[in-house]
Amino acid sequence: MPTIDGRTQLLGLLGYPIDHTLSPAMYNAAFDALNLNYCYVPLPVAPEGLPAAMAGLVALGFIAVNVTLPHKQTVVSLLDEISQEAEAIGAVNMIEFKNGRRTGHNMDGFGFLKAMTERGISVEGFRSLVLGAGGSARAVVYTLLRAGSSVTILNRTEERARSLAESLRAHAGVLTLRSGPLTTEHIAAVASEVDLIVNTTSMGMTPHGESSPWPDALPFPSTAIAYDLVYAPSETAFLRTAEGAGACTIGGLQMLIHQGAIAFEKWTSQPAPLDVMSSAFFNRRTSP
Ligand code: NDP
Repeated sequence: MPTIDGRTQLLGLLGYPIDHTLSPAMYNAAFDALNLNYCYVPLPVAPEGLPAAMAGLVALGFIAVNVTLPHKQTVVSLLDEISQEAEAIGAVNMIEFKNGRRTGHNMDGFGFLKAMTERGISVEGFRSLVLGAGGSARAVVYTLLRAGSSVTILNRTEERARSLAESLRAHAGVLTLRSGPLTTEHIAAVASEVDLIVNTTSMGMTPHGESSPWPDALPFPSTAIAYDLVYAPSETAFLRTAEGAGACTIGGLQMLIHQGAIAFEKWTSQPAPLDVMSSAFFNRRTSP
């Protein structure tokens, strides 16, 4: 455990509920490894308590917090500034408190892209299929468009896919941005022509079991990259199907670690110890 004294810099995770969060283990292991006097704590705050909590964090001298459900969108109205990316995505997952100002950022897109670039994958010129149209899909679609990939969004609730496409239309430029329902027919219509298929639905996430957005009856295209945002379990039914077809696969853990790493670097101005963060996360997840 790092030493906590009168100079310890405070950070935390604002969400509700957050009983099972692994973020404190991940960040505190990183601070400890670099001998930095920082401490990261869970901050369970119910929705009605958010304005008071934000004022309290400033008063207590917190330097930053990560933000998770259900506050990622509602907290925006309590900020002084918001980054261009967070504004386009419409959600915040990190707030810095500096010089009395509260500035919101969104690191989802950075983490999503970094997990590919570190493997030498550039999405420029790609045709990508995004399954799902929730909060994480917004960051994924925005990031893919900015990085030069055309995107098709398919979602169980078609209206949500359409509205996501329309709200990000201005970022598409000459790229194609389409939407539709998440049906076997619609997936099959684009499956053979896409380079990247991203699962942004919560299907397959613990405790939702073995579910997958990929239809059993449809062969997975072996030349496409399969990217699952779900990080628990690390091997999902979606990734197993893709692997079985010989496709390259990327799990959600790397995205999560890279988001944490970029936040760590902003807070401490030190390179994040990625291996320490990954093992802290992995060891906690696999311990009884
Ligand atoms: P949201 O609740 O905002 O969106 C959930 C999405 O999943 C919606 O598109 C929803 O469709 C779809 N969905 C849920 N259940 C089903 C189902 N049974 N059949 C078809 N579609 C379904 O969640 P988020 O976007 O915030 O998160 C999605 C996943 O991504 C979670 O597992 C989360 O843990 C993970 N994630 C991972 C990150 C990482 O760093 N690796 C970062 C952020 C998220 P509909 O609109 O029809 O309800």
